[in-house]
Amino acid sequence: DCKIWSQPYLKHFVNVLISIIRTSGVWRLRFPVSNPLSVETVSRKMATNGNSCKSSATPILGMVVKTPVGEYSVQACTKGLHSMDRSRDLGFNPDLSINVLESIEDALPKAGVKKGDDDPHKILRQIAQWFHLYFSEPSKLHLTFPKSIAICAPSATEFQLKVWETLRDRVPFGETVSYGELADLVGHPKAARAVGSAMKCNPNPVLVPCHRVVRSNSELGNYNGGVEIKRWLLDHEKSSSENGKFGTNMLPKP
Ligand SMILES: [Zn+2]
Repeated sequence: DCKIWSQPYLKHFVNVLISIIRTSGVWRLRFPVSNPLSVETVSRKMATNGNSCKSSATPILGMVVKTPVGEYSVQACTKGLHSMDRSRDLGFNPDLSINVLESIEDALPKAGVKKGDDDPHKILRQIAQWFHLYFSEPSKLHLTFPKSIAICAPSATEFQLKVWETLRDRVPFGETVSYGELADLVGHPKAARAVGSAMKCNPNPVLVPCHRVVRSNSELGNYNGGVEIKRWLLDHEKSSSENGKFGTNMLPKP
C-alpha cells in the first residue's frame, strides 16, 4: 500500500524510533551521518520516476467540474493530468441530467484556460470533454479518449504508472477485469496484490477506470470513492452498452 508512509501513526512511530536512536548516541557511533533522511525523503526515494514537475516552469492549474456523480476537482500541468478528486461533502446523489458542458463553460475561464489548441493547458478542456462523453455520449468515447490524455505522476512508481496506463488503454467502457487478469495484462501475472495497491493509489478515478477492476468471484471489491459509486458507474456502462448507446462492436481493440 503506497499510503503507508503517510499514515500518521507510522510517521510518529518512525520519528520516535529516530529520536531514541539519536539520543542514545548509537546513531553517532555507528552511522556518522550528519543529515539523516526524513520520512518524506525516504518515501519519495521509494516512489519516484525521476519526472518531477516541481522543477518545471509550468504551473499546475485546477478546475472544478460538475458531473452526474458529483463535483470533481481536476488538477493538471502541461505534461498531463495530475489528479481528479471527487468532493464527498455533498454525498452521493447521482443525476444524469447534470450537463457537464454547461458546467465547464464556467469552470474553464476561471481556471485560466484559453480557447484554442495553442493553450498549454488545453488538457483541462480535454478532461471536461471526456467527462461529457463518458456520461452523455459514451459511443463517441473511444474515438479519441482516454488514451490521448497523458498522466503526469511525479511521485508514482514505474509499476503504478504501467498499471494505470494498461487499465486505461486496455479495459474498455462496459467491461470488467479481475485483479489477477489486470496483473496478466500488465505482464506481471503474480502481482495481483500489487495491482490492488496501485488501484488504491489511483489519483485519477473514472478516467483510469479502477471501478472496472473487480474480484475474481465477481464481487465488486473495494472502491476509494465508496462502493455505491463503483456499482453506479458499472451499471451506467452496462446499460449504455445494452441500449445501443455503446455497441460492443465499437469497443477499441487492445
Ligand atoms: Zn505535472
